[in-house]
Amino acid sequence: MILEGISPIEKKPLKMVDLPDPVPGPKEILVKISVCGVCHTELDEIEGRLPPKLPIVLGHQIVGTIVTLGSRTTKFHVGDRVGIAWIHSACGKCRFCLGGKENLCLEFRGTGCHANGGYAQATVVLEDFAYLIPERLPDAEATPLLCAGAIGYRDLILSGIKKGQTLGLFGFGASAHIVIQIAKYWGCEVFVLTRSEEHRNLAKKLGASWTGRPEDRPPKKLNCAIDFTPVGETVAHALKVLEKGGRLVLAVIRKRNPIPPLDYGQLLWDEKEIKSVANITRKDVQEFLPLAAKIPIIPEVQEFKLEEANWALTSLKQGKIQGAGVLSMPD
Ligand SMILES: [Zn+2]
Ligand SMILES: [Zn+2]
Repeated sequence: MILEGISPIEKKPLKMVDLPDPVPGPKEILVKISVCGVCHTELDEIEGRLPPKLPIVLGHQIVGTIVTLGSRTTKFHVGDRVGIAWIHSACGKCRFCLGGKENLCLEFRGTGCHANGGYAQATVVLEDFAYLIPERLPDAEATPLLCAGAIGYRDLILSGIKKGQTLGLFGFGASAHIVIQIAKYWGCEVFVLTRSEEHRNLAKKLGASWTGRPEDRPPKKLNCAIDFTPVGETVAHALKVLEKGGRLVLAVIRKRNPIPPLDYGQLLWDEKEIKSVANITRKDVQEFLPLAAKIPIIPEVQEFKLEEANWALTSLKQGKIQGAGVLSMPD
């Protein structure tokens, strides 16, 4: 399914075309794709908020098996089941790559954005940017772990949370519902603040010890908070209930509206910190996949056929997908 121009998803801009199988370079592998998750980022790409290189095959939560190895590959075997995530490549030479922050690489390339991704039967990737999928995780259920899961894991690491501390989650979508399972496993107390009653109920089921609306006051101050909401006002709500010296992590790529002025004395003093998160590193994925298999975190998925990609993304836009949407490939 190929995207040739920016357009509202309602106009069904993804078209089924026949492309030749890509040929792997010396350090690349050719992967026969089994499933690819659908993500809000694809809506941003299609509708022009995060313009991709065109034409493009979208999709960055890929699970498949290796069918051909490049001549100079060393890590995998034909038949290995691997995943491909948002980080398609980083230069390995810039100050960010050398400092362990390849997510900020000056030449960062996103899968399905700067290079063809997973809305297809096959794709190629550098072997260094593919991951073995733990046996315990089925294909479809593994796809959300490669994006919402790995990014949520990064959010949690960056929050600096420690065992026994209190964590507040503002908003409770695909990423947060994985984050709560990791935080509970690490022995943290989790409070969830969201407008949606349905999401509050799910949060309770997944172990939240208290739930409320974003402007409510949880029973204890928060050592760490993660804001998954697309609105600016949540930042003030979160800072108000953050403990002295606590850290607020902003997990979204863009806020829909500006963050309102913050009262320094009331909201920021006492060494409170605000930190945003951009992209992921390979280390995030490499650490998170085995952890997800161990806990285990098995996300709920709703499967679509590849040719239904426009419909799957429209449903995602309308909030009608139960769990995570996944495209399965024809044989
Ligand atoms: Zn994604
Ligand atoms: Zn770099």
